Amino acid sequence: MDKPVRIALIPGDGVGGEVMAEVLPCLEWVKSRGRRLQSLTLPYGADHCLATGETLPEAAFAELRDGCDAILFGAVGDPRLPGGQHAEAILLGLRQGLDLTVNFRPCHAWVSSGQPPFDLEVFRENTEGPYCLQGSTEPGRAVDLAIHTESAVRRLLQTAFQRAEQLGRPLTLAHKANVLKHGHGLWMRVFDSLKPLHPRVSARGMHADALLCALVQDPSPFGVIAADNYLGDLISDLCAAFIGGMGVAPSLSWAPHRPFRCSALAEPVHGSAPDIAGKGLANPVGMFLSTALLFRHLGWEPEAGALEAAVSEALALGARTRDLGGTLSTQAMGTAIRDQLPL
Ligand code: ATP
Repeated sequence: MDKPVRIALIPGDGVGGEVMAEVLPCLEWVKSRGRRLQSLTLPYGADHCLATGETLPEAAFAELRDGCDAILFGAVGDPRLPGGQHAEAILLGLRQGLDLTVNFRPCHAWVSSGQPPFDLEVFRENTEGPYCLQGSTEPGRAVDLAIHTESAVRRLLQTAFQRAEQLGRPLTLAHKANVLKHGHGLWMRVFDSLKPLHPRVSARGMHADALLCALVQDPSPFGVIAADNYLGDLISDLCAAFIGGMGVAPSLSWAPHRPFRCSALAEPVHGSAPDIAGKGLANPVGMFLSTALLFRHLGWEPEAGALEAAVSEALALGARTRDLGGTLSTQAMGTAIRDQLPL
């Protein structure tokens, strides 16, 4: 018999816990279909930090890294901790500590009515660039370092090339190598070195500013977009706007080289949304779709597909939270989606 998969649940702050609550029954649902799954819920977030002073303790991190297969994450960020250090320590700590280089943000038209339907995928490097948290504030000047290592860039781009090849769609690298000659120069060199290995992929680099403009004018020629941490963050939020906004966009981060037992983290693209937290206004769709990505990563394709189909069917039947122009609460939207799951 297969060993059970062990998943850590970190609801976090704000709407994180609200959207997480809606997908918990899906974990019971996969079990009812014969999947062997254990979960453990961890309290890390603002409440825990304010009560204990802890962000993500070393022992907890070690247990996640070596004792779990994957993490399902809500969101972190809380106005009571305005410096955001706890969020940084928890989320960036997990992404960097687990070497989760690849952040996959598929943007499919679950709700948009655009013609042709919006459909592209963003691969964002997840551990480096200007988000490496190194820099200084000095009198009269501030410095943020951006670090790009060849190994992480190669892992991210290899994954993006493979995906473009699998989909038969073009690959675009977003960069600013004309200005960021060192860091983005490295991205260009690695990109060019991978092209001959993937002769069937139509691959080109594009200045990120021109790319954003082209995306808004006509996204249809784009298939897969690869970018560093910073540009990938911006581009994927823009793409989320094409498919219904922050509430519906999912993501999965993983470590293709599998350095640790825990090799993936699924989380909605949105943050803790303090402006709507505690009001039942959060859209749980991004969380459901992130859970589907996690199921697929674990090799549970039928369940991943069924969960995505349930989201699609609920939306087709008119289920909408307020951000999508409807009136359903977070809970009612969760129920509407789960009602579409097969037994
Ligand atoms: P982070 O940097 O942590 O990703 P952020 O500053 O980008 O956070 P979010 O918390 O994602 O901000 O919120 C951005 C906007 O999107 C807010 O107006 C928020 O209310 C809205 N929003 C975020 N999540 C949802 C959701 N699940 N449903 C509806 N609206 C949301």
